Amino acid sequence: MLSFKNRLSFAKGGTPMPSEPLLAPWGGPYGGVPPFDKIKVADFKPALLKGMELGRLDIKKIAESTDAATFDNTIVAFEDSTRPFNRAGTLFGTFTSTMNSKPMQAVEKEMAPKLAAFSDEVTQNDALFARIKQVYDNRTAAKFSPEALRLTEVTYQRFARRGAALGKAEKARLKEINGKLAELFTTFSQNVLADEESQTITLDKEADLAGLPESVRASMAAAAEAKQLKGKWLITNTRSSAEPFLTYASRRDLREKVWRMWISRGDTAGPHDNKPVMTQILALRGERAKLLGFKSHAHWIIDDNMAKTPDAAMGLMMKVWKAAVARVREEVADMQKLADADKAGHKIEAWDYRYYAEKVRKSKYDLDEDQIKAYLQLDKLRDAMMWASGQLYGFVFKPIKNVPVYHKDVTVYEVLRDGKHLGLWYFDPYARDGKRSGAWMSEYRTQENFTKTPAAPIVSNNSNFVKAKPGSPILISWDDASTMFHEFGHALHGLNSNVHYPSLAGTNTKRDFVEFPSQLNEHWLSTPEVLSKFCVHYQTNKPIPPELVAKIQKAKNFNQGFKTVEYLAAAIYDLKIHLAPTDKPIDPAKFEQVTMKEIGCPTEIVMRHRPPQFLHIFSDDEYSAGYYAYIWADTLTADAAEAFVEAKSFYDKPTAKRLYESIMSVGNSIPPDVAFRKFRGRDVDTDALMRDRGFPISGRKG
Ligand SMILES: [Zn+2]
Repeated sequence: MLSFKNRLSFAKGGTPMPSEPLLAPWGGPYGGVPPFDKIKVADFKPALLKGMELGRLDIKKIAESTDAATFDNTIVAFEDSTRPFNRAGTLFGTFTSTMNSKPMQAVEKEMAPKLAAFSDEVTQNDALFARIKQVYDNRTAAKFSPEALRLTEVTYQRFARRGAALGKAEKARLKEINGKLAELFTTFSQNVLADEESQTITLDKEADLAGLPESVRASMAAAAEAKQLKGKWLITNTRSSAEPFLTYASRRDLREKVWRMWISRGDTAGPHDNKPVMTQILALRGERAKLLGFKSHAHWIIDDNMAKTPDAAMGLMMKVWKAAVARVREEVADMQKLADADKAGHKIEAWDYRYYAEKVRKSKYDLDEDQIKAYLQLDKLRDAMMWASGQLYGFVFKPIKNVPVYHKDVTVYEVLRDGKHLGLWYFDPYARDGKRSGAWMSEYRTQENFTKTPAAPIVSNNSNFVKAKPGSPILISWDDASTMFHEFGHALHGLNSNVHYPSLAGTNTKRDFVEFPSQLNEHWLSTPEVLSKFCVHYQTNKPIPPELVAKIQKAKNFNQGFKTVEYLAAAIYDLKIHLAPTDKPIDPAKFEQVTMKEIGCPTEIVMRHRPPQFLHIFSDDEYSAGYYAYIWADTLTADAAEAFVEAKSFYDKPTAKRLYESIMSVGNSIPPDVAFRKFRGRDVDTDALMRDRGFPISGRKG
C-alpha cells in the first residue's frame, strides 16, 4: 500500500519564512533534506498550529485578490501555498507511522481533528472556490497547456467533491463530520497498534517449535531476546511473525492459538475494541455522502476513480470471485487428502490452510518455501530492485551518510541518472515498537518544476522485517520479496515523475490506478536476470539452481485460490459495507458474517484484513470503498506485463521507454485510461488478469 497521510495537500509560500525546524525550508544537501535530527515530539503541535496560521495568510492572499482570477494567480498560486504547513505535516505523518511513541500518539489524537478542520477551512473558503471556479469555467476559452488544463480540472474537482459549493449549514455539518472522523480514524489505528504491541505468545520448550525451520526459530529467538526473554521464542502479533509460524508449525493447537491472536486484533471486548468505532465511522461516512449528493460513501469515492461506479468495481470482482472460489475447493480437496493420509483426523480449518498448502506444494511441485527462502536475502533483494530499475529507467543508487535519519535502522540512497541527481530513497526495513505494521511507500518531497527552484523527489519504503541474529542475513519469503518489489514500484513512480505541478506528480493519481506501477514492478522479481544474479544461497553464495527456478515457475499459480479469495473477501466486504444504508447503526461483526455467507466465502479462509483491523479502510478515507483498487489495477498490470512478454524480455528497451513515457513519468498529468492506451495501443484486456492467475476465462472454454 501507499501512505497518503504524509501529504496533507494544502500549502504555499509568499509569507515570511519561519525559523522553527519543522516549518522552515529544508537545509542541507540535495536541495534540502528532512531535518530528522532536529525533531522533538513536543514541537509538533505548536509547529502545526503555526503552520496553519501561516497557511491562512497564503490562502487569504489568493482568495482576496482584486485582480481577475487567472490560472497563474489562482491555480498556480494555490499549488505554491501553505508550504511551511506541508513540511510540518509530512514530518508529522512520518512520525505517526514509523515512530509512534506514546507521547506522539497523544499529539496525533489531539491534532488529527484540527488538521481535518484546517483542510475543510481551505476547501470551504467561498472566495477561494469562486476564483477557482472562474478559472475552471473559462478553461476551454483560455487555451491552457494540457497539463495546466488538467491541474485546473483536478483542483476544481478536489474542492467540488469536498463540498465547496454547499450551503452554510451543510458546510458546517460537513466540517463537524470530518473532524469527528479524523478522531475515530486515529482511535482505530491506535487500537490496532495497541493489540499488536501488547499481545505476544512466548514459547519456552523446544517441543513447541516442532516443524519450524531454523530461520524461523532464529527470528523468534531474536524477537524474544529483544524483549528480555533470552532462551525463549516469541511470536509477535505481526504478519511477518505469525505467517511463517502458521506455515510450518506442526503443533496444531499452537497454530490455532497464533491464528486467533492474529485475526482478533482490534476485535477483543475492552478498551481497544474497534467494532463500536467502525459503527460510528460508517454512520458518519453515510451522512457525509448524502450531504455531498451521493447515494452512499462507495458512490462518492468511486465517482472520482477509474471504475467510476460501484457496479463496475463489483462486476470485476465477482467475475474473478467465482473462479477463485472454485479453485479454493480444489486446493482444500488436495489438502484434505494429505491430512487424511497423515491420519490427522480433522477437517481443514483456517489455521491449517497455510500449513497444509505448504505440504501440498512439497508433494505436488516438490517445492518448499524454506528451500526458496535460503536464496532470498533481504540485502540482495534490495540490490536486485535497484539493479532492475537501472536496466529499465537508468537509475543508479548510491548509499549516502550525509543526511539525518529518524532511526539508526534507516539507510539513505541518492538516485542518479546519467550522473545527474534525481532524488533520494530512504529505506526503513525493520519492525519496531511504534511502527505501523505492513509495508508502504511514502513521500517526503514530491517532484515539481514550476517555480524558480525545481524540487527533486524524496521517497521512502517501509516494512516490518524481523531482524536476524547479528551477523546472519535476513531470509524472507517469496511473498515478502514480492511486497518489497511492490513498494519499490511506488517509489519508482515517485522518483520517475517529470511533471510541472506536485498535485499531478508521481503517485498522486487515481486510487485504482496508483497500484498499477507498483504491481507491475513485482514482475521483475521472477525474471531470470534477477534470479540468477541476486537470488544466491546465503551459505554457499551459489545462484538459485535452474531446476528450482523451473519449479517456482511451474508453481506460479499455486495457492492462487487462497490468495485471491482472502483478498477479494476483504475487498467485497469493503464495497458492500460502504454501500449499505446507514439510517440504522451497522453492526460490523454481523455484517461480516452475513456478507461472507451471502457471497459463499469458503469457511477455510478469513479475509486478508478482518474488519476490526482493516487499516486500509478505517484508518483514513484513502482506501475506503477502494480496496478493490488492487484488482482493478491488476487488470492493467497483467495486460501491461504481457506487453513485455510479447517483446520477449522484461528488459526490452523500447517497451521500458514506452512505460516511462506514458505511465511512470506522467503522474496524473494525463487521465489514466489515456495513459494506459498510450502504453498498450488499446484499452485494457481484462482477460489478461484471468490468464495471469491461471483461472479459466468464461465464454471461451475449450
Ligand atoms: Zn501498493
